[in-house]
Amino acid sequence: MSRSWEGGSTRAWRRTRALVLVRDGYLCQLRLPGVCTTTATHVHHTAGRSVTGDDPAYLVASCAPCNLKLGDPTKLADRPNKAVTKW
Ligand SMILES: [Zn+2]
Repeated sequence: MSRSWEGGSTRAWRRTRALVLVRDGYLCQLRLPGVCTTTATHVHHTAGRSVTGDDPAYLVASCAPCNLKLGDPTKLADRPNKAVTKW
């Protein structure tokens, strides 16, 4: 019973993640220079999971290195790779 929230990996999240990966053709959308492997196996929360939840509109397919490098934007005070920039 205590295993229903394994690191937030719920059945609903796995389904959402699969949906985003298919939508983006399993191609990394972050494409960080120097780290990107192109093949998406992760899904990145562009505005932070605590902000948008698991809304596919704020999710992009990403490779593991890009996802890990960016991390959760809400947890970083200084982020050099802002996904959303105000011009
Ligand atoms: Zn990448």
